Amino acid sequence: TIGMIALDANGNLSGACTTSGMAYKMHGRVGDSPIIGAGLYVDNEIGAATATGHGEEVIRIAGCHLVVELMRQGKSPEKACKEAALRIVDITKNRGKNLKDIQVGFIALNKKGEHGSYCIQGGFSYAMHDESGNRMITPEFYLK
Ligand code: ASP
Repeated sequence: TIGMIALDANGNLSGACTTSGMAYKMHGRVGDSPIIGAGLYVDNEIGAATATGHGEEVIRIAGCHLVVELMRQGKSPEKACKEAALRIVDITKNRGKNLKDIQVGFIALNKKGEHGSYCIQGGFSYAMHDESGNRMITPEFYLK
């Protein structure tokens, strides 16, 4: 998945995502990326979020909508991403599934331009561009 979220010079938020889907995916499978609220969500009053990883897990919690709603409640982008990812962790455990088989990462940006991220497992990084230039950021993750 390639997910992008942006805040422009006028303070407007936007987002986009595209995916080739999971490897060996079932014919007809729909991942999280084309579902607004799952793989992508933008509320121009609050913030934007996008996801990568196992789309089924992201859809289960309406992941990016959840991240934006947590930011609406005052959470930082980082804390919002972490809380959404940890909800997937809890659900996975409750379903008796092995967490090692699950990877999901969220990135988020709020109206102030603060950004954050969180993953279930390591292995993801994202590119950040702002007035200080370009850099790669590796999110914190749950499964060490
Ligand atoms: N989230 C995507 C999907 O489930 C896969 C990915 O992130 O590569 O379709």
